[in-house]
Amino acid sequence: MTTDNTQKVVVITGASSGIGEATARLLAKNGAKVVLGARRTDRLEALVKDIHADGGIAEYLALDVTQRSQMAEITQFTLSKFGRVDVLINNAGVMPLSTLDRLKVEEWDLMIDVNIKGVLYGIAAVLPIMKAQKSGQIINLSSIGGHTVYPTAAVYCATKFAVGALSEGLRQEVGGDIRVTVISPGTTESELADSISDETAKKGMEEFRQISIPATAIARSILFAITQPNDVDISEIIVRPTASPY
Ligand code: NDP
Repeated sequence: MTTDNTQKVVVITGASSGIGEATARLLAKNGAKVVLGARRTDRLEALVKDIHADGGIAEYLALDVTQRSQMAEITQFTLSKFGRVDVLINNAGVMPLSTLDRLKVEEWDLMIDVNIKGVLYGIAAVLPIMKAQKSGQIINLSSIGGHTVYPTAAVYCATKFAVGALSEGLRQEVGGDIRVTVISPGTTESELADSISDETAKKGMEEFRQISIPATAIARSILFAITQPNDVDISEIIVRPTASPY
């Protein structure tokens, strides 16, 4: 998978389902050493077994991205196993949609904690290592919700706009040695909509998500961004269903 004939070491947050899982499988198939983090370790254990059975290299560790110490731990774990961190994919995310007047303030907090602070803790964990290595790539999952806003998604979109802003700021600061990439999917098959507790928002999403593309479509765009030569930064890719209005 690499341009320099070495196997890249890739940490993936939220690898227990959806886009993270599909990306883990695809990158491992293409020669990466993947380190997988999420809270559901039973899922990660099964995934790692699958990847090993397929001849790939994978490890996993329990990870809650809202805990800065756990993001630091998975990074140290990766260093202890493989000696470096070439790519961090900040993929973990939640999307409990509802209109603001429902005042689901705890869900707002959760989206901010996972979708923004989780990404920042990931950056904090790997940036010193990548600076010392004088190489690395940080890939942040935003969304079409990072480009447009729609009712029920004000807070979710705010978190994804934030991912875009902090990624661009990071890119400008670290350019030279470290690549920064934003991947913005449109509606994609995954478990993302399962976290919606508001019945109206859930119904609307069920309809919208009928045109979803497979998670492998997003995984392929991530593989593409990683396998470019080191002096080429794929700064952003939007991947969405052809039929998507947004
Ligand atoms: P899934 O719900 O299938 O996957 C989300 C992953 O995030 C799970 O593996 C979950 O694992 C993990 N996660 C959630 N909270 C935490 C946490 N606190 N700590 C660690 N891991 C956590 O959804 P997707 O695959 O769709 O989501 C991946 C990313 O893609 C998200 O950032 C999402 O916003 C983005 N996206 C998805 C779109 C879609 O339509 N699918 C569209 C646009 C963007 P666990 O519960 O085991 O911890």
